[in-house]
Amino acid sequence: MTAIAFIGLGNMGGPMAANLIKAGHEVTGFDLVQASCEAARQSGVAIATSATDAVKGAELVITMLPAGKHVVGVWTDIVPVAATETLLIDCSTIDVDSARKAHALAATRGLRAIDAPVSGGTGGAKAATLTFMCGGDAGSFAAARPVLEAMGKKIVHCGEAGAGQAAKICNNMILAISMIGVSEAFVLAEKLGLSHQALFDVASTSSGQCWSLTSYCPVPGPVPASPANNGYKPGFAAALMAKDVGLSQAAADAVGAATPLGAHAAEIYASFNTAGHQAEDFSGIINFLRTMKR
Ligand code: NAD
Repeated sequence: MTAIAFIGLGNMGGPMAANLIKAGHEVTGFDLVQASCEAARQSGVAIATSATDAVKGAELVITMLPAGKHVVGVWTDIVPVAATETLLIDCSTIDVDSARKAHALAATRGLRAIDAPVSGGTGGAKAATLTFMCGGDAGSFAAARPVLEAMGKKIVHCGEAGAGQAAKICNNMILAISMIGVSEAFVLAEKLGLSHQALFDVASTSSGQCWSLTSYCPVPGPVPASPANNGYKPGFAAALMAKDVGLSQAAADAVGAATPLGAHAAEIYASFNTAGHQAEDFSGIINFLRTMKR
């Protein structure tokens, strides 16, 4: 049993904290939103009055927050009050610079830290099947691993501080591009008089095969569990995809990497969001493509 503080009990953090309770850990949580605190309380999380309050007495701290500024802000508050042996884990998806700033904050007091963003969405958070991609030294990774295993089924050590976030944004840039590619193929197929099922049956067993097609198909029918069968309710919201592909482009700018398709995908998701579709699943991009002129 580990005494864990969990800051950020939203769509991902809430179910992740619940799985830590199920695994026998003692969890004290905090979120700015009262309803999220209440939902976490129902699953056995003790609710603190602030992030710093939650961290007092914790052996391990997890943050699951929207963006880099929230993580740096919360870590600035909690690092001074954490016990010296505390291990800090940030599971949010944030920019590599902020992740490294968070590591540097922890280092000011000699605290162990890893960045450990996740893949698998809210379904994976509930089912404890997330993939964790981790950055930090080997000792901190080894210490974090048993706790991460209570929330996920694949835990990968990607390298030093920030490497987990680097892996996450590279993966999501692939996803952003591949979902647009798969959607374009269905839109073209429609115009060519080819049925969705026929394209799926061929491409899913041919060289066009990819996760966006076989696990998350953007048209209703071929993959019953995909958001296309549920009115494009997320799943993974278009706003989060725009954020992640935007992070990949900020990182590409910073290091001078050429990512022309990533850049174009970022523009397309930004337009999709500006058109008011932020709360839809990102695979709803297919409906946006249907409205575009050649
Ligand atoms: P969310 O908005 O549901 O939850 C974030 C929570 O953080 C909110 O409840 C908010 O009130 C809380 N918060 C913000 N500032 C705070 C502060 N200073 N102190 C305490 N609480 C604070 O978002 P989410 O869907 O749970 O995503 C969290 C992170 O996980 C994001 O970085 C997101 O990109 C990433 N992520 C999300 C998914 C997904 O499918 N939703 C998948 C993978 C990764």
